[in-house]
Amino acid sequence: MNLLKKDIIFSNVNKLKGVGKQLSKYLRNRKIEKIKDILLNLPYSETDRSEIISLDKLEVGKTQTIRVLVKKLNFPRIRNLPNKIICEDETGKIEIIYFNSREAYLRKIFPINEWVIISGKIGFYNKRYQVTNPDYVTTLDKEKYVKQIIPKYSLTKGINEKKYRLISEQVIDNLPDVEEWHEKDFLKKNNFLNWKENIIALHKTKDSQNSLSKSYKRLVFDEICANFLALSENRKKIKKKKKNKLFTSLISNKILEGLSFKLTKSQRNVLNEINIDLKSSTRMFRVIQGDVGSGKTIVSLLSIANVVESQYQCALMAPTEILAKQHFDLAKKIFFNTKIKIEFLTGKTDIKKKKEIENNLKNGNIDIIIGTHSLFQKKINFKNLGLAIIDEQHKFGVKQRSELAKKGGDNCDVLLMSATPIPRTMMMSLYGDMDISKIMEKPAKRKAIITLSKPEKKINELWSFINKQLNLDNQVFWVCPLIKESSFLDYSSAKKKFDIINKKFPNKVGLIHGALNKIEKEKVLSKFLKKEIFILVSTTVIEVGIDFPNANLIIIENANKFGLAQLHQLRGRVGRGEKQGMCILLFKEGLSKNAIKRIKTLKESDDGFYIAEEDMRLRGFGDIIGYQQSGIKNFKFADPIVHEDLFLLAENYIKKKSINVNESKYAFLLKLFDKAEIINQNID
Ligand code: ADP
Ligand code: MG
Repeated sequence: MNLLKKDIIFSNVNKLKGVGKQLSKYLRNRKIEKIKDILLNLPYSETDRSEIISLDKLEVGKTQTIRVLVKKLNFPRIRNLPNKIICEDETGKIEIIYFNSREAYLRKIFPINEWVIISGKIGFYNKRYQVTNPDYVTTLDKEKYVKQIIPKYSLTKGINEKKYRLISEQVIDNLPDVEEWHEKDFLKKNNFLNWKENIIALHKTKDSQNSLSKSYKRLVFDEICANFLALSENRKKIKKKKKNKLFTSLISNKILEGLSFKLTKSQRNVLNEINIDLKSSTRMFRVIQGDVGSGKTIVSLLSIANVVESQYQCALMAPTEILAKQHFDLAKKIFFNTKIKIEFLTGKTDIKKKKEIENNLKNGNIDIIIGTHSLFQKKINFKNLGLAIIDEQHKFGVKQRSELAKKGGDNCDVLLMSATPIPRTMMMSLYGDMDISKIMEKPAKRKAIITLSKPEKKINELWSFINKQLNLDNQVFWVCPLIKESSFLDYSSAKKKFDIINKKFPNKVGLIHGALNKIEKEKVLSKFLKKEIFILVSTTVIEVGIDFPNANLIIIENANKFGLAQLHQLRGRVGRGEKQGMCILLFKEGLSKNAIKRIKTLKESDDGFYIAEEDMRLRGFGDIIGYQQSGIKNFKFADPIVHEDLFLLAENYIKKKSINVNESKYAFLLKLFDKAEIINQNID
C-alpha cells in the first residue's frame, strides 16, 4: 500500500483494506470510527514473538514462537474431538490443537515433513506441550512477519489480534508526512520527536505504556494544545465588539451605603475589574473564582446594578431553585427602594406566570431576571440583555456557557462565578477562554470553622451537644448521603435520620431533599430561616451557595462518601455569620488510608485551593466535584497531575504564539483530537 493521503486520516475506517460493514461495527464498539482513531488507539502491552524458543525451553502460559517440523496430522472422525497436529524440533514434541477447523485448510498450512513457524499461547496437557488455535502459522520464509514484538491492543468481540494488526499496520506503516505544527527548534528543545516518528514510536515501542516517555509526552502535549487552541478560539469569537454601556453607579453606591458590612479589598478589586470590562467596547467573558463564603453574590448584584442603570437587562442563573430563590430574595431586598423590576423564573413556574415573564422580558418590562437554567430556553428572549451571570458555573458545562453568551447577543457581557477552586494546572483547561478574577480573602470577621471527626458508633454523644447548641439559639444542618434507605448502599438516609432526630427534638426538626417539590422545599427553608425549626436534616441539596448566617453547626454522615471539595462546600454552609462555625464528620470504622488522609486534610485546612489540589492528588482529577460535565474529562491522554509541566508549557506556548486555526496544520491538530467541531459549532 502506498503512503496514506493526509486527508484519509479523517475518513472512515472502511476505507481500509479488509474492513467491511461487520468489522466497522466491531471497531465502532471500540470507539474506532475514523482512521485517525487507530492512531490514537495505543497498545497497552506487547507480545514478544521475536525469539524462537526451542521446545525444551517453553514456558506454559506465555505467548511464544517456535520453529517445528510437521510430523503427523490427526483428524478424528468423532464429533467434538479436536484436530491434532504433532510437531517436533531437535529437543521435543508439541501438539497443535484445532477446534472447528477444516481439514483441507490445515493440510495446506501444515505440510508433512516441512518446517513451520508457529506462534501462540503455550499450554500443557496430558504431559505434553500444546498450542490451541495458534495466532500465527507460517512458512520459514515469512518468519520475519511473525518474529516481532507485536503491540497488544485492547480489543473487543469480533476483532482478534491478527485482524486488527492487518488494519493498524496499513495505517501505522504508511503514515503520511504531515506539516508539523511545532517549530523544529521547539521540538528539539523539548526533546520531542516529529509527529510521524512519534506515532510510530507509540505503536512500535513500549513508550505507550509509560505516560512519561518521550513519545507519550509529545502526544499529551499535542492534546493539551488542541484543547487550549479550541478554547482560545472560542474566546476570540466571544470577545467581539459591543456597544459601550453608559456607565453610572448611583444605585450601586447607594446599595453599598446600605450594607451592614464593607466590601473586602478582594471584592473591591474584582468589582473594579468587572466595571472596566463593562465600560470597554469588547465583550466581557469573565469568571470570578472565590472560595465558599468569600462574598461573590454581592459583587454580582452590584455589577447588575450598574448595568441596569444604563438601561440594559440582566439575567442571573443559579444551578438550583433554592439558590436562585435566595439570590432573588436578596436582590429584592437590595433593590427595594428603586424602580427596578425583578422576576423569578424556574422550571416550576406556572404556565400563566411564565407567559407573562416571557412577554415582559421581550418588551423590556423586566430589568432583572433571576432563575435556574430555564432562563436559557429557546422561548426566552430579551429586549436588550446586557449582562448574563451564572452562579456556581461548574454545575453547568462549557457548552451551556457558550449558549448563554450566544443568547445575549453581541452586547451581552458574561460573568461566571465559581466556588470550586481548581488547581493551577487546570485553570487554563477550564477557563482558557475567559478572564479570571479571584477573590482571595474572606470577610475579616469570619472565624475559621472548627472541623472534627467522630466514629458513627459514638453518635449518641452528639445529642447533648446539639441540645447545648439549641440552647444557645444556634441552628444545625444534618447531612446524609441518601434520601431514603437503600438495600444496596449502606449509607445513612435523610428520611430515617429525620425520624430519629425528630423524636429526640420534637417540633424542632425539618427535612429537605431533592425529591421534594419547590413549594415544599421553600416552606422548610423559610421555616429554618425564620427559626421555626432549628435542625435541618438534608441531602446535599444544601451544598451549593445557600446562605444561613445563623447556622453554625453542620454534621455530615458517611463523610468518607463525599469528595474533599464537596465536604468543603458543605462545611461552607456554616460559620457565615459572626458565630464560631463547627463541622463534625461522622464516619464508619475501618476507613481506608486514603479516606483517613482526606479527612485529615479537611481538618487541617480551610483553604479551598489547597483542598482542591489535595482532592485531585488523592482521588484523581476526574473526580473533582462538579467538573464531571465541564469538559475536563475530555483529555484522553493528558493528566493534570502527571503532566503538570506540559500543561504549563502548553499554556505559555499558546499564549505567546499568534495562531490562525484556519491554517491547515492547526486544523489537522484540532481534528485529530476532535476539537474542530467545537470551534465550528460555536457562537457567532
Ligand atoms: P459565596 O462567595 O460563597 O457565594 P456569599 O456571597 O453567599 O458567598 O456570601 C456569604 C456571606 O457573607 C453572606 O451572608 C454575605 O452577606 C456575607 N458577606 C459578603 N461580603 C461580606 C463582607 N465584605 N463582609 C462581611 N460579610 C460579607
Ligand atoms: Mg455563592
